[in-house]
Amino acid sequence: MKEQTLSVKAIENGTVIDHIPAGEGLNILHYFALDQLQKCITVGFNLKSGTQNYKDLIKIEDVFFTEENIQQIAFFAPQCTINIIKNFEVIQKITPTYPDQVVGIFKCPNMNCASHGEPVKSHFYVKNKNNKTKLKCHYCEKIYPFEWVHK
Ligand SMILES: [Zn+2]
Repeated sequence: MKEQTLSVKAIENGTVIDHIPAGEGLNILHYFALDQLQKCITVGFNLKSGTQNYKDLIKIEDVFFTEENIQQIAFFAPQCTINIIKNFEVIQKITPTYPDQVVGIFKCPNMNCASHGEPVKSHFYVKNKNNKTKLKCHYCEKIYPFEWVHK
């Protein structure tokens, strides 16, 4: 654990997303187009982790996510920790929670849905019932279990 920490340079100001499930780090990079920000980004994929078997980690210098962005990260990595760094100190640790609505991440499982074939972003309302997350499509108004809806 200590070696891992040492192998990745500490950042002065910025955001560290830790405990991302292995494989989701790349999805987060692409979704937020982080590689196009022209900021210094350090990524670690498939790092050994004490609490999960493998994890991804992203460090972005001089970038702070909005509350909306943080909620969106929940769909990629609901168990992750988002560390806000100022002057080399972690000033805030956030575990993201699902937003009420989600736009542009998922595809509607209904192939007849108007969101397919139209130049519109997918749009779902997030519902939590009995600890199950469900997504209701804005366009076809059908409700899907979270597991049915794919990025
Ligand atoms: Zn739909």
